[in-house]
Amino acid sequence: MIARAAENAAENAQGEHDRQLVDARAALEGVCDPEIPALTIGDIGILRDVRRDAAGRVEVVITPTYSGCPAMGVIEFEIRAALDATGLEDARISTVYSPAWTTDWITERGRQRLLEAGIAPPAQSTGNKRALFGEVVVRCPRCDSEDTERVSEFGATACKALYRCRACAEPFEYFKCI
Ligand SMILES: [Zn+2]
Repeated sequence: MIARAAENAAENAQGEHDRQLVDARAALEGVCDPEIPALTIGDIGILRDVRRDAAGRVEVVITPTYSGCPAMGVIEFEIRAALDATGLEDARISTVYSPAWTTDWITERGRQRLLEAGIAPPAQSTGNKRALFGEVVVRCPRCDSEDTERVSEFGATACKALYRCRACAEPFEYFKCI
């Protein structure tokens, strides 16, 4: 167990000094989710890993958000373009479906960026009993009030619902929890 952890640490350290992996990660920082342009694919948790595959090629591992999400084709295209622009035409993109993506993978920075874009971040399901039972408290991204109501199950995209704040009367989008 300890040996395995040390091995992982060594691999990670190696990754940090691998110029191509550093370049690939930097390039991917510029790839955003077309449905939520405020978030990079790293923020939203689509980007799982940037590593060397068994053959030594740079491998970008991604997990789609919602299955059949039409944005995934666009995202792969943008990843390819970002890698090519960095001189990493040989890099491979692997799509991993298991474990399935969950909104819990949205990073803290991602949640902050959602708020700044006026979108309420998903209620975190981990350790949140109320969320488990479907009683989600959605806070207004503008005034932080909990006095909100759902107007429509679907917002501009299927992954968002439309809410309205009773306190400040502003409508806003809520990134649904899955
Ligand atoms: Zn409000």
